[in-house]
Amino acid sequence: MNYQIHDILTLKKKHVCGSFDWAVLRTGAEIKLKCSGCGREIMILKKDLDRRIVNITKSEKEEKPIE
Ligand SMILES: [Zn+2]
Repeated sequence: MNYQIHDILTLKKKHVCGSFDWAVLRTGAEIKLKCSGCGREIMILKKDLDRRIVNITKSEKEEKPIE
């Protein structure tokens, strides 16, 4: 799975607030996610997260390459 900071991940299981979408706050071996429904932040191991992703929405904030 290839995603980066600011991307929105849609997961298989919904959060307690009813949202399926999470924003990526930090990447690495552990990924930091923020629920787009309630704003709760969690840490999850990348290998566990990858199995739960059903969709990746690339951020429009994606940095442009330096010209
Ligand atoms: Zn939530």
